[in-house]
Amino acid sequence: MKRLGRPAKPLSSNKAGHPLGELALIDLIRQRAGKATNREIRLSIGDDCAILRPRAGEEIVVTTDLCLEGRHFRRDWHSPASVGHRTLARGLSDLAAMGARPVAAFLSLALPKEVAANPTWLNGFLDGLLNLAARAKVSLAGGDTSQAPGAEVLADIVLLGAVPTGRALRRSGARPGDRLFCTGTLGGAAAELRLLQNNVIANAKKPKPPAKTLAENPHPQLFPEPRLAPGLALVRRGLATAAMDLSDGLSTDLGHLCEASHLSAEIRLPDLPLHPLAAALGPATALDLALNGGEDYELLFAADPGQRIPPTLAGVRVTEIGRLMKQRPGQPRITAIAADGAQSELTSGGWEHLR
Ligand code: ADP
Ligand code: MG
Repeated sequence: MKRLGRPAKPLSSNKAGHPLGELALIDLIRQRAGKATNREIRLSIGDDCAILRPRAGEEIVVTTDLCLEGRHFRRDWHSPASVGHRTLARGLSDLAAMGARPVAAFLSLALPKEVAANPTWLNGFLDGLLNLAARAKVSLAGGDTSQAPGAEVLADIVLLGAVPTGRALRRSGARPGDRLFCTGTLGGAAAELRLLQNNVIANAKKPKPPAKTLAENPHPQLFPEPRLAPGLALVRRGLATAAMDLSDGLSTDLGHLCEASHLSAEIRLPDLPLHPLAAALGPATALDLALNGGEDYELLFAADPGQRIPPTLAGVRVTEIGRLMKQRPGQPRITAIAADGAQSELTSGGWEHLR
């Protein structure tokens, strides 16, 4: 394709602050990504295409996610490492929701001239992305790089995962009477976003990406933890009838699961597991953020009532939060049950992009 950047130059000769040029940027990414570690990847960054060879008995699942500055992150709130982490985490969370094992990631980046001018931001971005990639055992196997037309960073991630043939977890498999569960805690990502907004967490303090999976994620907004191991455990142990990840908020995402499975749902509000950052904002706000905040990237899944569900999956806490029922005409799709037993209709208050 036609290159918009300047011709490639060695990084060392770029002290004048000229945009590095597409080739030099790709070279930097390629060096930092290193050799692909997944055996399925026969050819990685460097040719026109990557070559993958799936294992026998597995299907490939594919997902793509856009991360746009100003919509999904802000460079004054999210450190470069946070943006890199979040870009990959969004795609990995979709793989987790299908119960897939990550195989390869493809990153398309559009960088404004001033960001491409010196590799500091990109190196920070790659710190976050590659740290999570190493933990998730996924290889960066290709992508595309260009100068952005405007002043905003655009990052698109494509993730390929593998799942035993016919075993991927879908949204559509739930049945009436199934119990509903979620992993981890809810509301934390939105609560931490408020702290960033109000400058309680200064970007300058540079919270670090986690070195390993923690029981309680201290930075659910900056460094969300895709639930890959719990997703794999659900498939391996055949525990779930349906699953999805919670990216837009429970009130919106549960609606999607209900729709796909042609069911309605009941949620017991006192049972929702709240992240401590959300709980600290008081019960009403915490509940609002847990239902509508979004970006928690926990798993929501349904299980047959006869199926025993362990209290943790791969070390991550699992909480029963409600159940699924036959859809009845005139009945709300999602009913919320309060501590005193009062019932109300739960409408989608989470994020619906492009509404
Ligand atoms: P093409 O002209 O065929 O698109 P490019 O020069 O854009 O090739 O890319 C060269 C190689 O570098 C390809 O293997 C491509 O997948 C890889 N690549 C380009 N940009 C990125 C990126 N942002 N992240 C990872 N790999 C990249
Ligand atoms: Mg290209």
